Amino acid sequence: MKYILALDQGTTSSRAIVFDRKGHVVTVAQREFQQIFPQPGWVEHDAREIWATQHAVALEALDALEKGGAQRGRDIAAIGITNQRETTLLWDRETGQPVANAIVWQDRRTAARCDQLRAQGHAARIQQKTGLVIDAYFSGTKLEWLLDNVPGARERAEAGELAFGTIDSWLVWNLTAGRVHATDASNASRTMLFNLHTQDWDDDLLKLLRVPRAVLPDVVPSSGVVAESESSVFGVALPVAGIAGDQQAATFGQACFAPGMAKNTYGTGCFMLMNTGAQPVASRNRLLTTVGWQGPSGLHRTAYCLEGSVFMAGATVQWLRDGLQVIKSAPEVESLAAQVDDTGDVYLVPAFAGLGTPDWDGYARGTLVGMTRGTTRAHIARAALEAVALQSADVFSAMSRDARIPLRELRVDGGASRNNLLMQMQADFLGVPVVRPQVTETTALGAAYLAGLATGFWQDAQEISAQWQVDRRFDPHLGESERTAKLGRWREAVERAKGWARP
Ligand code: ADP
Repeated sequence: MKYILALDQGTTSSRAIVFDRKGHVVTVAQREFQQIFPQPGWVEHDAREIWATQHAVALEALDALEKGGAQRGRDIAAIGITNQRETTLLWDRETGQPVANAIVWQDRRTAARCDQLRAQGHAARIQQKTGLVIDAYFSGTKLEWLLDNVPGARERAEAGELAFGTIDSWLVWNLTAGRVHATDASNASRTMLFNLHTQDWDDDLLKLLRVPRAVLPDVVPSSGVVAESESSVFGVALPVAGIAGDQQAATFGQACFAPGMAKNTYGTGCFMLMNTGAQPVASRNRLLTTVGWQGPSGLHRTAYCLEGSVFMAGATVQWLRDGLQVIKSAPEVESLAAQVDDTGDVYLVPAFAGLGTPDWDGYARGTLVGMTRGTTRAHIARAALEAVALQSADVFSAMSRDARIPLRELRVDGGASRNNLLMQMQADFLGVPVVRPQVTETTALGAAYLAGLATGFWQDAQEISAQWQVDRRFDPHLGESERTAKLGRWREAVERAKGWARP
């Protein structure tokens, strides 16, 4: 066996990547699919299109591999799955057809229901059990919405006729032609229905959100053989042996195996996760507590993580490009920002979609403060890059306070991590080194590692850690007092953005 096939089902595209034993990419295929916006604040996907694109890219990646002489039956050791998290789907167990479009993680339709749950005083109990803050982002209220709003859904769910799943469950269901209804613990921990301490669905929360147990998938380890794929899917049966939500998979792909190790992914948003070891750490600084992964040999039991999310990171650069039109492509932001030595005390708070960690203010809106007659587009571009790094610095600081473990460095990945100026700013604002690895396909790689460990393709965490290689390391240059002053000034700017859209 020479290869692992990773299925990376993302928010805007489905990808398949074949990795070799060294963790190098051998073949890749990718397809975008439709984003459906039925009303302001609503975001949906057609789950049939998700499966169709995911299946097609997997076949494409396998075909490309076979052109090089490999044979899928002989050379593919296992399949690993990683996926957009929280996106919620309900389907008919008999026909395998969705009863409605999937409600995507970005969808805000259940925000008022979440306000109500908070007002009823459920926040502390939900945080204690699930590690989450009450938010429309998570699956629980989305599932409740589907059960209440799809005609007949609640009765059919109670009668055991319907299946709920996040996207990993949907892929496993389709890979096994409906034989297996499962999710892994990392995906389950994003539903607001899963108890971190019992590692099971929580009856109390199921009652609160009126979810019948009959719709729920079995919770399986992230690393372990869940099933064999149906041979009709790829022409041969292949073991499905790894599953993790995208951010947890990226943390695994970055080999953050020891407590205190952390990674930050710079994509549309930023997601920072830190391994806190075998115990869930309750956050006092509005971070999420989540299952990192469960199961591979040598890392038995469950690894937990603290997680912080920044909603607008690379998307701020997209806004410079498409909204302000001061750059033509995202990478151009680096040279534009480098035209000035500093922002001239200008701060851009990119709260275009509210603020995530640590402020969690859905009513905050974007703000540009401190402009003078001398302010140019270069200052604004630089302020935009600083904003990405400063938001991440806030998350990092919350994490350090919660974990009480000194964070010695930050591993980075994602599209915007290619920006060297941004990475240098990040190191400066954190006061610790930022390290970028050679392989930045960490999400798919993490899924491959989980599947490969379960099937003996890779032996243990040490073998994987040894594959992780530095591309470039950014050391902090800013003095401690300058750093504190910068972060303080940033917080003043954030205060000005808060609450702006409150009704
Ligand atoms: P996602 O997986 O969320 O779609 P990617 O990891 O593909 O994101 O990264 C794309 C994001 O990174 C876009 O928002 C883009 O604006 C931003 N980006 C890409 N290259 C750069 C760059 N050189 N500097 C800053 N931002 C960048």
